[in-house]
Amino acid sequence: MAEAAGIPAPLTPDQLGPDTSPVAYEVAAGVAYVTLNRPDYRNAQNSVMTYSLDAAFVKAVQDADVKVIVLRGNGQHFSAGHDIGTPERDFTVEYPNVASLYWDHTDRTGADQRLAREIEVYTGMCRRWREIPKPMIAQVHGACIAGGLMLAWICDFIVASDDAFFSDPVVRMGIPGVEFFAHAFVLGPRRAKEILYTGQRFTAAQAQDWGMVNHVVPRNELDGKVNEIAASIAEMPQLGLALTKKAVNICEDQMGLRNSIDSVFGWHHFAHSANVEANGDSLGGMDAHSMRDSAK
Ligand code: ZN
Repeated sequence: MAEAAGIPAPLTPDQLGPDTSPVAYEVAAGVAYVTLNRPDYRNAQNSVMTYSLDAAFVKAVQDADVKVIVLRGNGQHFSAGHDIGTPERDFTVEYPNVASLYWDHTDRTGADQRLAREIEVYTGMCRRWREIPKPMIAQVHGACIAGGLMLAWICDFIVASDDAFFSDPVVRMGIPGVEFFAHAFVLGPRRAKEILYTGQRFTAAQAQDWGMVNHVVPRNELDGKVNEIAASIAEMPQLGLALTKKAVNICEDQMGLRNSIDSVFGWHHFAHSANVEANGDSLGGMDAHSMRDSAK
């Protein structure tokens, strides 16, 4: 088991508060605000953030007074994606699995290790969070890149500020998109191909036009718009909301979302392995600097 050298442990539900990092948590008027809080690293997601996020969602689900969950980011950006290069990158640290019943990745190697980790912290967590039985709104401003899209997409819908921008540039790594492959569902197949083939960012206005984002408002109106929608949802009965969420998610899965993600996940891991075969690096030579450029 690898040690978490200098990396703080994930937060537990009891530890979460309005100023905690890497995830902050507060409740007001029946709304739980879960805030990505690594602003110095553009809210890049390491495993500590992932497990702290999970703790925040557990807390919100268990609190009977919470009717709606808002997921947002502190600082200039929503999220620059998965952590592939900050000082607190914790790829080799073991944390007890929450999302999957699978073996610990840290004492495995190669493709076995990558698959074990990504089943847990990427597809596993995203599926777990998508099934949270309370409405979740993604409040997105600034960059929402690659793994950032995964977090926004597992929410029920997205409200964005007009300065928000989105991209999944991982085709530059030779990888056909991030692990939670909902692209063709949230963008439509042809838009999905264009944004993946080019790796180019798309704007909040485009995302709204394509059906990925529900509302776009000026940055200084973003909090107000999200709160207005959340307050309206909070007036509805909790069980009715939970069942409605389940109903729409079932329809989306019947349209093929779940099976598509499982199928594409295999190609995703073929790509990681092909990269290792070609140059010894599962990310195809991309580093945090080149990915960060996508978020500038
Ligand atoms: Zn991957």
